[in-house]
Amino acid sequence: MRWSKSCIPTLKENPHEAEIPSHRLMLRAGLVKKLTSGIYTFLPLGFRVLKKIERIVREEMDAIGCQEVLMPILHPTDIYEESGRLKSFGPELFKLADSKKRTFALGPTHEEVITMVARDTMRSYRDLPQCMYQILIKFRDEIRPRYGVIRAREFIMKDAYSFHVDDESLDLTYRDMAKAYSKIIERCGLNYRMVEAESGYIGGDESHEFMVLAGNGESEILSCTCGYAVNLERAAARRPPEPEGDGNGKQPYREVETPGMTTVEDVSTFLKVEPAALVKTLLYRSGERDIAVLVPGDREVNDIKLVRVIDDPDIRFLEPREIETLTGGPVGFSGPVGLPGGTVIYADNLIKTYTEMIVGANKADHHLAGVRAGRDFSIDHFEDFVWAREGDLCPLCDKSMTLHSGVEVGHIFKLGSKYSASMNAVFLDEKGESRPYVMGCYGFGVSRMVAAAIEQHHDGDGIIWPETITPFQLLILPVNVNDRKIFETASRFERELEDHGLEVLLDDRDLSPGVKFKDADLIGIPLRLTIGKKLKEGKVELFHRGTHHIEEVPLDRAKATIMERFAV
Ligand SMILES: [Zn+2]
Repeated sequence: MRWSKSCIPTLKENPHEAEIPSHRLMLRAGLVKKLTSGIYTFLPLGFRVLKKIERIVREEMDAIGCQEVLMPILHPTDIYEESGRLKSFGPELFKLADSKKRTFALGPTHEEVITMVARDTMRSYRDLPQCMYQILIKFRDEIRPRYGVIRAREFIMKDAYSFHVDDESLDLTYRDMAKAYSKIIERCGLNYRMVEAESGYIGGDESHEFMVLAGNGESEILSCTCGYAVNLERAAARRPPEPEGDGNGKQPYREVETPGMTTVEDVSTFLKVEPAALVKTLLYRSGERDIAVLVPGDREVNDIKLVRVIDDPDIRFLEPREIETLTGGPVGFSGPVGLPGGTVIYADNLIKTYTEMIVGANKADHHLAGVRAGRDFSIDHFEDFVWAREGDLCPLCDKSMTLHSGVEVGHIFKLGSKYSASMNAVFLDEKGESRPYVMGCYGFGVSRMVAAAIEQHHDGDGIIWPETITPFQLLILPVNVNDRKIFETASRFERELEDHGLEVLLDDRDLSPGVKFKDADLIGIPLRLTIGKKLKEGKVELFHRGTHHIEEVPLDRAKATIMERFAV
């Protein structure tokens, strides 16, 4: 392929809207072109990468017996009413009406559609298990599209769905799928972690994400050397117990003056203690109940956990006025001692590690020190409320965990019968009784994977493609296309290597060598054959993009050297 005849619109400048390297480099290397916010065209170079990833995905899905299908993009919204997801999707569902005013949605995922297929076609336990997948454009009306194709409104996803008679059968497919995802990411040449994850609006009992590690990933994960990894959203905060304090439990708590100090930082500085010595008392209203949540002074509440524990998406903080009414003290001085009966007191599991704590006194400008749970107040429930962080202990082996950032490329879910029960999708079991299917669903972000690969493999000059997904295997760069000898040699290499099945891009543009080298580094083809002045001495150069290693090769050995490398 000749560069001069290809649409590879490289940019010298960094586009201002791009916040992370992959977004910047996809635009600069001419892989994609933005149509409007969160919507992109894949140009030839980007499309070649996309196709290679798709091919790997297909091969691994086929290898585990998952059947490829193609489902519609347009979905009547009735089916989301049937499954109960119209509300949980909320504004992210793209809706439109046809000429008869019937409303449709642009498919965000296909649980409903495939469940309708199954209930009409898999009626007996003999038809199960089955697994089907497709590679299709999906739509999500992101409120704030960003990071290029990573959080786009239109993106390409592989989604698979499996139907089973019971949990044991689902477990087998779930395990196969996890292995297939690992293989896909490994074959794409990327470093990743499989992590325990939140199920979000897809729902279900258990889920795992596949995160490609990258400095600028949009997700954070904690991982342990034992192999355990977990999404930070879900990770339980665990740390060793505090050493036993001086107190023996016989000294009552004491009131300390903390004039005007309403923050943990103010109070801990003033009392010369670590922020962790303080315990924050957060006051909420859920329905008719007042709820106090105690968390260590150096930790923050994770709202996802709070909503799940209290089981109320509408839970809210008490207003300052309500706090005064409940506790008798102003905001910033709340504590668990002496709260009115009827207030339910929850505490984060980390509070179990405290023997004594400093808390608000429910009185302006005062705190209480030496407070003991169980003696001075009672905790109704211990739960996991706070964000975990680097150094927290692994739940499997108690070693300290490390924080990474990553780009989520895959997410697999055990759905159980969430969709089959609500959509009355049943089969007849061996006894002739009808039961809802047990289901799994498995998403893989194909267009995201392009960005994830770049996030993990780039340097200051541009992209460094892993060999299995590079748009071309070899870039031939004649430094001067007007030098007949140089250009003829370049063309001969192009022809002969393409005849051997190598994917070759020939930079035949009449531009200065400097510009061409810069562009070559930017688009990141792993191997470059430079034909320049040394041709007179019968030599050409092989440049390895990843290592910046330059190899001088005799002209008559060059073809064999390249072919050996690609084993063609
Ligand atoms: Zn561990």
